[in-house]
Amino acid sequence: MSQEALVAIVVAVALIVGPLATLRALSKRAAAQTPQRPAPLESNIEAELLAQLPVLAHLTPELRQRHVERVRAFLASKRFIGCDGLEVTEEMKLVVAGLACLLVLRPDAELFPAVKAVLLYPGAFLVPVNEPDEFGLVDDEPQERIGESWQGDRVILSWEDVQAALAGDGVNVVAHEFAHQLDDESPFEGAPHLPREFNGYERWSRVMQREFERLQRHRRPPVLDPYGAESPAEFFGVATEAFIQRGADLAQHHAELYELLRDYYGFDTRDWAWSA
Ligand SMILES: [Zn+2]
Repeated sequence: MSQEALVAIVVAVALIVGPLATLRALSKRAAAQTPQRPAPLESNIEAELLAQLPVLAHLTPELRQRHVERVRAFLASKRFIGCDGLEVTEEMKLVVAGLACLLVLRPDAELFPAVKAVLLYPGAFLVPVNEPDEFGLVDDEPQERIGESWQGDRVILSWEDVQAALAGDGVNVVAHEFAHQLDDESPFEGAPHLPREFNGYERWSRVMQREFERLQRHRRPPVLDPYGAESPAEFFGVATEAFIQRGADLAQHHAELYELLRDYYGFDTRDWAWSA
């Protein structure tokens, strides 16, 4: 081998080994940094969900597994948008997805197919009112809202009120607005698309209609939010909130309504306690 050939081989080896050594150094540094960052949510999503929503412990293992799967799919398919300067964190997304997916634990349930985005405001937000009131007038003053569900593609929520539900408030804006989404999937106002075992809408309309009229008559209802008396759609939203937030009270005061919602959503909430 000539001197020139040897030099050529040494240079070639240096050219190959050099970049490899650099690459290794980079990956080593990256590996050294990894433990300083929190573990990615994806890997411990089940534990995180349980920490945020301890009531999940009351679900059967099968339903808990399905809940985790639905939450993963929800996070992968819906966009979260922070409004009014709110920076949406992974924890916020998990809580909203975790609460919303409680409503779709039936084996045949679809994952809110119309919803493309969840808009999160820090607290209550103002919306212009376009609908005329009973006198045909449109209010100039915007109205304050804690949540909205648009028949189109978005659900809007106040993060402050999402947190209130976790702390045990009777209002659960996530359950309420996503119940509207379920309602919109069926042709009947105040009813979702019912699974086959219901054999039609006879039982649903009988119980809901009676309870709706009862709420309209009641001055101080003990469990259900009086707002539910506005319309069958609002009644379904309010009843769903009560089922999730105040299962024991609903079962005690509105047994048939509780059983109807239990059979539809597919789990019991009588033992659930949101606040310690
Ligand atoms: Zn509503």
